[in-house]
Amino acid sequence: MRALGAIAVVAAIVAVAMVAATPPAAEAQMGERGKLKGGKKGGRKPTPPGGPGKVAADTNPEIIGAFIPTRANLDAMRIRGFLETGLAPVYPDDADCPLMTSAFGVATRSDGSQRSRRFYQGRHGGFDIPADEGTPILALADGTVVTMGEGAAIGGLAIVLQHAPEDTGLDVWTYTEYKHIQELPPLTIGQRVAMGELIARAGKTGTTGGYYGADGFSHLHMTAFFSTGGEYEIGHMLIPVGGQWMDPMAFFRRAPVESVNLIDLPEAEKSVPIAFKTTDGRIVPEGTKVVWPFACVPR
Ligand SMILES: [Zn+2]
Repeated sequence: MRALGAIAVVAAIVAVAMVAATPPAAEAQMGERGKLKGGKKGGRKPTPPGGPGKVAADTNPEIIGAFIPTRANLDAMRIRGFLETGLAPVYPDDADCPLMTSAFGVATRSDGSQRSRRFYQGRHGGFDIPADEGTPILALADGTVVTMGEGAAIGGLAIVLQHAPEDTGLDVWTYTEYKHIQELPPLTIGQRVAMGELIARAGKTGTTGGYYGADGFSHLHMTAFFSTGGEYEIGHMLIPVGGQWMDPMAFFRRAPVESVNLIDLPEAEKSVPIAFKTTDGRIVPEGTKVVWPFACVPR
């Protein structure tokens, strides 16, 4: 059963959904076609100041417009950080990393074609890194598995990690979603994973039968969110309570993570050297709390 919370929207620089306290459901919605499964209680699901809450994601138009792909409202999305930031990865000189080919918020696919307006008004909800089927996908940071299953319409199979502030060194809670994975990994909801750990393998689930035809397009699509507290809702997709969209590149640049602040950076500060793990197991640079979601091959 979905618990409904009373919702008030507070306008600040950004509008943040504040949720009245209701106990989290013992289990999230399970098994409905096209929805993410998981959310079983017992994992690390912390209580933010003000008590636990659930967002009525399916009924609140603000939330629907900001996060549900097929009912996107560009204004609601922008208020929650769905903006092209201009951040661009800088790859190492001494290793070959799978390249990001379609950035967060852009209107084009990896091949340069225009995205379908059926989803998010034709804007990209994350970033894409093409990779052969079966290529190991690495956890971007230490985190907890919060859901996995079949994503809404465009997602295929997906796994979502929640990262506490201490996991990433950022001062907010963050989420990384890994889409189009080849199959669901042998992980359990609530399980902790380590930065750089193999959590899934690249695939093309959710990409066949449409623009990419019967062959599909094997790649990792990563979506990221942040929020000040660690509560989240699982319905059509995972939605952090009071959450914002986040350019996954912001993990590598570090704070600020808000899209509105990233947009205003001087161009020179938008080139972001990535941290990564090598195929022989080295972490570069030492001490990083985030790594590229694919290993890089030393030259
Ligand atoms: Zn994508």
